[in-house]
Amino acid sequence: MERWVEETLHHGFRVKLKADRVLFDSETEHQRLIIFENADFGRVMMLDGVVQVATRDEFIYHEMMAHMPLFAHGRAKKALIIGGGDGGVLREALRHPKLEQVTLCEIDRAVIDLCRNHFPEISAGAYDDPRARIVIADGTKFVAETKDRFDVIMVDSTDPIGPGAVLFTRAFYAGCKRCLKPGGLLVTQNGLPSLQADELKQSVGYFRELFADASAFLATTPSYFGGPMSYGWATDNMKLREHGRRKIERRHRKAGSFPTRYWSPEVHVAAFALPPYVQDLVEA
Ligand code: SAM
Repeated sequence: MERWVEETLHHGFRVKLKADRVLFDSETEHQRLIIFENADFGRVMMLDGVVQVATRDEFIYHEMMAHMPLFAHGRAKKALIIGGGDGGVLREALRHPKLEQVTLCEIDRAVIDLCRNHFPEISAGAYDDPRARIVIADGTKFVAETKDRFDVIMVDSTDPIGPGAVLFTRAFYAGCKRCLKPGGLLVTQNGLPSLQADELKQSVGYFRELFADASAFLATTPSYFGGPMSYGWATDNMKLREHGRRKIERRHRKAGSFPTRYWSPEVHVAAFALPPYVQDLVEA
């Protein structure tokens, strides 16, 4: 019997993916997790009815979530990933040779274990890198209590449903500000402006109360159905968003010019060019 798995994130818009082979389908301590094979998107993981990662296009989101903040910052030594249990952002972040430590704070151990098993090419050994530190905890609690301070924080979270809802609150962003070093940078998964406009508007509104510079950049991942995804941007260093192509090229060369499939110095600069309907959401 053919099985079609439905994405249930949006109110009036649903997508079905054919599950040619189901590899895992059960509740974890925190959420419903399913992993299956699909002819068009490759191996796919969904949490609570929402696509989290697909092997065919995961490089787009993971490269942008890691390289945009790390090349913009340019001197990051310590980074924090909130969520990110599939290991894709960790993989890309650890390609920056000057990074001394990357902490990944994930609430659901089962996501890490199942992704290491069913998506080994996504973490690609990153979990075994001596610079990687894994913490199983709620991200809001971690940023409120940690004694560590970070140059860059990347919030690779689920959507504002279930355990991820708290990661879109002012209290969480204030916690992130608390554990950022002066001039540090926060980047967040912030949904699809075309279908989740209020989410981006609210988050950037909170950023504006807490940071000198609050904005966003865009990139489209086909398996995040519904148009370009927004990445929230918050820092007290106004210059970080202003870097030109040449400066980003120099930094990429200094990092060994590692090959990428989506991020590039040109894409980096262009990602901040927001169309008016998104600009309206991030402006005061
Ligand atoms: N790239 C995906 C997206 O844009 O939808 C996100 C992928 S990643 C797998 C999301 C992770 O956030 C999940 O593993 C989930 O367990 C984790 N997560 C959700 N709420 C969390 C919380 N409060 N603290 C830490 N991790 C959390």
